[in-house]
Amino acid sequence: MLLTVLTITTLIVVSACGVWQSEGEPATSPANVSPIPILSTATATATNAANRIPTAAILTATVPPADPTATASPRIASPTATATEPATPAPVEDVPVIVLGPGHDRTTPGALGIEYQEALRTAFIAEAALEAAGYTVYLTRTDNEMVFVDDTTLLPENAADFHSGYSHVWAHASKALSFNPDLVIVLHYNGHPNPDVAGIEVYYCENGGKQNLVLGEIVRDELVTALRSVGYEPPSARVIEDIAIARGNRHFPSLGNVYEAPTTFIRNRYADAGVGVVLTEPLYMTNATELTILQDEATHQAIADAYVRAVDRYFGR
Ligand SMILES: [Zn+2]
Repeated sequence: MLLTVLTITTLIVVSACGVWQSEGEPATSPANVSPIPILSTATATATNAANRIPTAAILTATVPPADPTATASPRIASPTATATEPATPAPVEDVPVIVLGPGHDRTTPGALGIEYQEALRTAFIAEAALEAAGYTVYLTRTDNEMVFVDDTTLLPENAADFHSGYSHVWAHASKALSFNPDLVIVLHYNGHPNPDVAGIEVYYCENGGKQNLVLGEIVRDELVTALRSVGYEPPSARVIEDIAIARGNRHFPSLGNVYEAPTTFIRNRYADAGVGVVLTEPLYMTNATELTILQDEATHQAIADAYVRAVDRYFGR
């Protein structure tokens, strides 16, 4: 759900969580776009072929400037790789480290004022499921009292130049990167002023590397399977490049994007670290049907299991 600091105009036209933007920007509305049909043969085929490629192997290499908050380094492949698509994918050296980032906090609680709690609820179940599947798992936020924006070590140097929402989500990304992950899933639930709006949304950012679209499609497909398993057919299931909703030329800081105030994109922190990342919005809390489904523990378990299957597919396990 939206940052509470957004303007009414923005509230009307934006549906996604984890979005940073300035006030008063002209907007487009993904919620008004016709839903993309759920799944497709072409998507499934492409995904099956691409998901065998380790994350860092298809990383578009960059030479980033120093970033005092980005302490992570790639755990797989070579951090000095320069090829966009090396001929031989590098093997995963050890157990992948997965970071789950439950969105928001008690000061920016998200949809219905409780989205941050629902996101953590899912995160705990997904953590256990991923650990049972053999992964090393960390949560950025392990209770509902933690607030990152007070920790200056997690903030951008130019935080004062930005809307406060930028620093909030930037800090979440800093926390995720501090665990030296191989893969990050940012967990949200959606909200919209129109209670009829419903469906799955998964956001990725091209700036973070080609792996993110692959990951987004895998996660979307597994979330569809999850919701069907609890008896719900989502009306849409979209994988969306984050620029589509993040105002003009602005990407989500949640997905690692760094800006020089006010609007100049600098680089992507997840790309720097060779880490795949997506932001998930499996259900709309502002839709009565989807909220009812979310209140069922079985739904959280099904969504958690979907993340395990998606991570398995992503790493070719
Ligand atoms: Zn949210």
